Amino acid sequence: MSQVFVLDTNKQALNPVHPPRARWLLTSGKAAVFKRFPFTIILKTAIEQPEVHSLRNKIDPGSQATGLALVNDATGQVVFAAQLQHRGQAIKKALDGRRAVRRGRRQRKTRYRKPRFANRKRRDGWLPPSLASRIANIVTWVQRLRRVAPITAISQELVKFDLPQMATPEIAGVQYQQGTLYGYEVREYLLEKWNRQCAYCGAQQIPLQVEHIQAKTNGGTSRISNLCLACEPCNTAKGKQDVRTFLAKQPEVLKRLLAQAKAPLRDASAVNTTRWHLCQRLQALGLPVELGSGGLTKFNRVTRGLDKTHWLDASCVGQSTPEVLHVKGVSPLLITATGHGCRHMCNVNEIGFPCSKPKGAKKVKGFQTGDMVRAVVTSGTRQGIYSGRVLIRATGSFDITTKQGRVEGISHRFCTPIHRLDGYSYAIGASHAEHPTQSAR
Ligand SMILES: [Zn+2]
Repeated sequence: MSQVFVLDTNKQALNPVHPPRARWLLTSGKAAVFKRFPFTIILKTAIEQPEVHSLRNKIDPGSQATGLALVNDATGQVVFAAQLQHRGQAIKKALDGRRAVRRGRRQRKTRYRKPRFANRKRRDGWLPPSLASRIANIVTWVQRLRRVAPITAISQELVKFDLPQMATPEIAGVQYQQGTLYGYEVREYLLEKWNRQCAYCGAQQIPLQVEHIQAKTNGGTSRISNLCLACEPCNTAKGKQDVRTFLAKQPEVLKRLLAQAKAPLRDASAVNTTRWHLCQRLQALGLPVELGSGGLTKFNRVTRGLDKTHWLDASCVGQSTPEVLHVKGVSPLLITATGHGCRHMCNVNEIGFPCSKPKGAKKVKGFQTGDMVRAVVTSGTRQGIYSGRVLIRATGSFDITTKQGRVEGISHRFCTPIHRLDGYSYAIGASHAEHPTQSAR
């Protein structure tokens, strides 16, 4: 299990402790549970001048999910890990639905309304709501973690490739082989640029080798514009030949290859807008922000023999990554952004016409949809213990979404709230095995 966050009675963040220690503090009455997600306990005493080990919050932002990790740089211990699932698609769907309903309403025969479509402005730095929500999710979690753990620095993966470093292969040495950081950056870049296929025959899903378009023996350089990817048969067949000789019978392939080699990979190399916005928001938090590239993350992860998951990627972001990362037994907190419900007064049908009674009260018997609850059902067909996100009904018969699936018809009498709705739902992921398997790519 991940470590447990500890606060003193003044809500000052102390060093996280291992679960047995936390259990002892709780059973001996020295502490109480402060929060379930992430699990935090609060001591009943104040600690003057506590000795805390600073932690680094590492972030690997993704479009669907973001990896978060708290790493002690001095010891290499991953103290806490989480995978944050975003709701960009849900937001887009809701806005598309709203747009369709409004458009439908405008087309219907209703009283005349002045057109009002050219009176809106987008401020500078506007982002689509789906992207803005991703950034807001991450900033929220950085701030939440900061409240319970002594975080003194942030690392964020900003770019896919470190282009300035690649532009000067002479400085980095001409080691384009696997196994060096430079090699990783170059390989990732080439895979993206050549669409993960052999530049000569278009073969996919096979191991590809880095290939010099103009062979080194003929004076070819290791500049990125002279490199492409080839499958082993093509690479061997071409050998030292000039590319024009090799592709003499396929002029169209030659033409495409030469054009593609010269073209820089603008989109992928440029900083992704969302990540850049995130970087600015993180810098505004007042902590030092370290930036890393995707190639560096992968290099760090593979050299430390770790699997590819969001939270392990996050642990490997940036130059500051310790030589040895202790991840044994860490189970990530799976966080899913769920929002806070919608503002519909009642449900509407596909053309936006009210089709139900007004929605009931938001709270029933002290519960609201989205609360995390634990239900101990002692009688009836649903006997058992369930914990998860609750969906309320006015009748008092609730549904609970557990890790195994949804359980219907649980009476409110059996439910105890463990964490009130805060816009996210939670589950605990599988703990990390002792001997991680080496991942290929
Ligand atoms: Zn090929």
